[in-house]
Amino acid sequence: MQDLKIQNSLSRQKETFKPINEGYIGMYVCGPTVYSDVHLGNCRTFVSFDVIYRYLIHLGYKVRYVRNITDVGHLEGDTDIGREDKISKKARLEQLEPMEIVQRYTIGFHDVMGMLNALPPNIEPRATQHIIEQIEMVQSILDNGYAYENNGSVYFDTSKFAKETNQYGKLSGRKVEELMSLTRDDLKNQEEKRHPSDFAIWIKAAPEHIMRWNSPWSVGFPGWHLECSAMSTKYLGQTFDIHGGGNDLKFPHHENEVAQNIGACGHAPANYWLHTNMLLMNGKKMSKSDGNSITPHQLFTGDSPHVSKGYSPMVLRFFMLQSHYGSTLDLTDQALLAAEKGYKRIMEANQNLQSLSLPGKGRETDLDKRVKDLTDQIAAEMNDDFNTPKALAVMFDLATIINRLKGGQDKLEDITADTLKKLQETYSEFLFDVFGLKDETAAEGSNDAGLTNGLMEMIIEIRKEAKANKDWNTADLIRNKLNELGVQLKDNPEGTTWSK
Ligand code: AMP
Ligand code: ZN
Repeated sequence: MQDLKIQNSLSRQKETFKPINEGYIGMYVCGPTVYSDVHLGNCRTFVSFDVIYRYLIHLGYKVRYVRNITDVGHLEGDTDIGREDKISKKARLEQLEPMEIVQRYTIGFHDVMGMLNALPPNIEPRATQHIIEQIEMVQSILDNGYAYENNGSVYFDTSKFAKETNQYGKLSGRKVEELMSLTRDDLKNQEEKRHPSDFAIWIKAAPEHIMRWNSPWSVGFPGWHLECSAMSTKYLGQTFDIHGGGNDLKFPHHENEVAQNIGACGHAPANYWLHTNMLLMNGKKMSKSDGNSITPHQLFTGDSPHVSKGYSPMVLRFFMLQSHYGSTLDLTDQALLAAEKGYKRIMEANQNLQSLSLPGKGRETDLDKRVKDLTDQIAAEMNDDFNTPKALAVMFDLATIINRLKGGQDKLEDITADTLKKLQETYSEFLFDVFGLKDETAAEGSNDAGLTNGLMEMIIEIRKEAKANKDWNTADLIRNKLNELGVQLKDNPEGTTWSK
């Protein structure tokens, strides 16, 4: 297996990936909080991890991919106490049960992920289904002395943890001294905390709070960060390979997850932390509150002032693949138009490629070597921290060669049959299995590109037979009828090719 390099947020370095157990990978990704429609920013993060998941499978790993659904504990303003739970609030406003809200937006999320052709994770645990595990984890952290109870709520003791383990702030790069220099004034309505940087792991429910469970400390609910620690430990073990999420989660969510895991069992949860960068729109972070956002549905239908027309889910997916997951990505109408063109070009190149067949063994030439090298380079780019834009750039270089071979400007026998076969396999494997694209151009054009290619091969064969039998009438009839359909035949020394 080739070396896979991963940009590890924990070390801030590109490292050679080594799984804990040879051949197996445990990967946990923070899922959505299901209180509203999933937005395109969320989609970017989940599509990025879908490609990562697909590539790890492509490399031959057996992957257990866990992505949670947050259905309790995530409070307004991403704070940890004194504010309303996002799901409870929506339930109150719409006069529904919180679980009706959860059900509606979980289904909506799955629908969008399905349209984007993302594979489902192997386990999709929900926070409300793991209250017992979370209570147990709070107890372990208390037993280890890294948490304290006050008035029915339990807080993680960050100063004690930072002092004793020297681990707090390591992932997010926050300076402990700065975190610790917060004063009691920063506590605002959070006087139960000993220190402003402490965070709640169990929260006593206010009388109006609908979602509540019994615990040794109070009738309450778990803190937001706790669910990921409890569920990743349950399904992947105390230490697993990869933990992912958007980089806006690095602090406090992921920093606090690390603290909780170490506080509960003495081990950091993940060896590699992967963070995706934000989706922007017209240069600004996509955000619902200032109107700078667009839903997947609006993008697909074109029902938004931000786009000139609708773009298909596959064009959106292709657009996302054209940037590295670690860079910001700016969504503009112009960029989407360009992505649509690029998507069509690469799909057409693949159709052309799959229709090529070499009668003989072919020759080892410079062209053959170039094709071989470029074919290998696709995986090499992906091995460099899942660099999808560079891998696609290589596939575009190959598209130019493929189209020249198809059009007869380059000679097919100047590459060997083995090289052609490997290119055909690799190209479609990456497009469909790794990048998770579907060929919509085949469906919209001739209904079935494979069928068209097969039929054209047959017609060319019949015309060849006719010419061999000196049946010039039939040969001309075929050429003329095809011309009427807009199909041109080109006779080359090595055979006949066609184009539309
Ligand atoms: P949430 O539902 O807010 O908890 O977010 C779910 C996932 O989407 C998290 O991993 C976030 O980091 C990610 N996310 C949120 N906004 C964006 C954005 N604008 N671009 C990329 N990822 C985002
Ligand atoms: Zn999480």
